[in-house]
Amino acid sequence: MAAGRELVVSFGEMLIDFVPTVAGVSLAEAPAFLKAPGGAPANVAIAVSRIGGGAAFVGKLGDDEFGRMLAAILRDNGVDDGGVVFDSGARTALAFVTLRADGEREFMFYRNPSADMLLTADELNVELIKRAAVFHYGSISLIAEPCRTAHLRAMEIAKEAGALLSYDPNLREALWPSREEARTQILSIWDQADIVKVSEVELEFLTGINSVEDDVVMKLWRPTMKLLLVTLGDQGCKYYARDFHGAVPSFKVQQVDTTGAGDAFVGALLRRIVKDPSSLQDEKKLVESIKFANACGAITTTKKGAIPSLPTEAEVLQLIEKA
Ligand code: ADP
Repeated sequence: MAAGRELVVSFGEMLIDFVPTVAGVSLAEAPAFLKAPGGAPANVAIAVSRIGGGAAFVGKLGDDEFGRMLAAILRDNGVDDGGVVFDSGARTALAFVTLRADGEREFMFYRNPSADMLLTADELNVELIKRAAVFHYGSISLIAEPCRTAHLRAMEIAKEAGALLSYDPNLREALWPSREEARTQILSIWDQADIVKVSEVELEFLTGINSVEDDVVMKLWRPTMKLLLVTLGDQGCKYYARDFHGAVPSFKVQQVDTTGAGDAFVGALLRRIVKDPSSLQDEKKLVESIKFANACGAITTTKKGAIPSLPTEAEVLQLIEKA
């Protein structure tokens, strides 16, 4: 990572989630929906900015009311939107999401195609990407062309310019043609990342084994990696670096809605890493940073929605001091 640079550039989708006004109903039963800004890479950028870090977002929105609203949300939250472009022909993506009474999450996406899928390599803000200390991305931008090619090109530009690459696959099975295709494509860029974060569910999906034991996690380890993380909800997370590994418990909070917890965790950790890159080699420092990231994730679960519940640095430090 180039010295003196602290910018986290997050690449991918930003969209509108429509969530029912009442809990525990199916999409068909929902009487009305509230709109909430979403998209994991955008959440990560805002998480970084909320705790005082420099962040930028790269992606495509529809040249419509929702697209302009989302770009304004980035700016209002201190995120550089210089990498955002607008598509005049396609709409901003929509996702209707509900948690049914039986605990099953139901999704319905409007991406036929949506603007985010249409980002081309020519539209990349190369100068912005080159300023990244960390370049972060997911896997949804790998699903369809031309965005897939733009994604791969952006990774290349960032890496050549000296950025660390950070990858949170954020599996959304419903968006892929098949489970096999999802697994193949998600793993197709596995070896390029310096930092990878998976959830317990993604660990099982990618390894085919329902266990978070070290030997299972190590199936996802590559010698090219600097850090591999497995987040475990209220249990905190496990970390694997070249010379050490371990686990860090999370903080006890009153959970309301877990949306965005993983993105808050990633944003907080990336902020700490760009501030002090030596934490990737120093276990004591890394554990402190993961504690900070766990607290950030935990706080995000205490309120509804992702962006409104992302904490400030002071709120994170307060939770850590109280514990
Ligand atoms: P994802 O949203 O990617 O599935 P998790 O749900 O595992 O990720 O949450 C990410 C991190 O946020 C966890 O590693 C943990 O530190 C924190 N976290 C999530 N849910 C809770 C909770 N209920 N209580 C405390 N911490 C939590």
